Amino acid sequence: MNKLFDLTGKVAIVTGASTGLGYGMSIGLAEAGADILLVDIVPSTETEQEILKLGRKGFSIIADLAQMSSIDLVINSALDKFGKIDILVNNAGIIRRTPAIDFTEKDWDEVMQINSKAVFFLSQAAAKDMIKRKSGKIINIASLLSFQGGILVPSYSASKGAVAQITKALANEWAKYGLNINAIAPGYMATNNTKALREDPVRSKQILERIPAERWGTPDDLKGAVVFLASKASDYVNGHILVVDGGWLAR
Ligand code: NAD
Repeated sequence: MNKLFDLTGKVAIVTGASTGLGYGMSIGLAEAGADILLVDIVPSTETEQEILKLGRKGFSIIADLAQMSSIDLVINSALDKFGKIDILVNNAGIIRRTPAIDFTEKDWDEVMQINSKAVFFLSQAAAKDMIKRKSGKIINIASLLSFQGGILVPSYSASKGAVAQITKALANEWAKYGLNINAIAPGYMATNNTKALREDPVRSKQILERIPAERWGTPDDLKGAVVFLASKASDYVNGHILVVDGGWLAR
């Protein structure tokens, strides 16, 4: 049974790996056996150190996914360092909170660039290596706002709706080459991304009241889902959005 989830010898790229969900998923993948290229706009020092302690290889690079030149940098770094790409986790993401009526073009473009456009083009670049080897797992980090409209975050909702559709579109084209393209939609997780919500007593109470598990999620809560979607266990799972939300969408 364990063989199904074993990632020994696999090479993963995780974006946004310095903190939050990217940190948790990187550790989960390393615990399952993977070596990891850690990509972030800041150094992923702590993540790298934890991975080394697990006896795996972790290598941190700085890349700004707001710049399209970062795509080649990330892919070439993975190929130079590890020789192949088995798993790509498109996790890096940003959010801007402003009422729609005042929302600026800058806040629209920056969120769409990092949350959607970089996801598509990084997947495209990684798939060029994966398709050659007829094997690969791409895991996009979607959101509950891939399904719901959200409040005060119009570009974030649009970008995460796009993540869900990119996931399905790529699965339709690349499943036949042995690639699995899926997404994880985390619920409300305690990270920097949700700091403003958790500090707002009204919103944080409203959110908690709707979560059947009666708690915010943590980065550790994504370990099982990411290992499943990165491993042989999910070989016939294509274009799926796996919700990990303590039951939020069920309510
Ligand atoms: P976070 O803010 O803690 O982490 C985001 C990471 O992305 C950081 O390490 C940051 O440095 C990196 N990043 C930001 N801009 C970047 C850029 N231009 N280039 C490279 N890296 C960049 O947030 P998180 O909660 O860990 O979010 C991770 C992902 O999960 C995001 O895509 C987010 O939208 C998604 N998500 C989070 C929640 C939640 O409740 N926290 C829920 C649903 C989805």
